[in-house]
Amino acid sequence: MGQTPEVSSRREASKSEKNEPLYLTPEEAKAKGYRFKSPPPPPDKCQFCGKENPRSGIPFGGEILFWQPFPSRCDCPEAVEYWKKYDAEQAAKKEAERIAEEQKRKRERIERLLGKSGIKKRFQRRTFDNFKADTPERQKCYKIAKRYADTFKQRYENGYILRVRTGPAKHTSPPQSPYNSLTRASR
Ligand SMILES: [Zn+2]
Repeated sequence: MGQTPEVSSRREASKSEKNEPLYLTPEEAKAKGYRFKSPPPPPDKCQFCGKENPRSGIPFGGEILFWQPFPSRCDCPEAVEYWKKYDAEQAAKKEAERIAEEQKRKRERIERLLGKSGIKKRFQRRTFDNFKADTPERQKCYKIAKRYADTFKQRYENGYILRVRTGPAKHTSPPQSPYNSLTRASR
């Protein structure tokens, strides 16, 4: 250490950063004269072969900044097999979480859109499967609505929308229920 520790350590850091290795074992670090910010954790003993595997340290500016916080993996066949299985399980778990998160976002989006649609909660639960088509009039309604739903995509692409005529005229409303008529969208 020189007379101006701050300046000299900064110069030392920029000089050694360039050819500094990414990882060093405690022994390697000691041999190269690195300072330890904290003492290295004990090596991890392999549960299969008993070999002791040291943790790596991250060198920076002539100092070991921190030590690897997870156990060191042994390279014996049993350990390699164990970690291969472990990694696959972790990846599967992560993928399952990702899918669940995606489904949750989709559900939230649908709920948000239904909330904005003006369709009351009790109507949101109505489907074609639970519609009671027990009178000729209702059967007719069912057929019209079903055909509308089945061909919604083409209709939408062709510029047809379903207008609501239950309140003040809403000329730009998206399709809603209840429905009175099918009209050509003016746009
Ligand atoms: Zn081992």
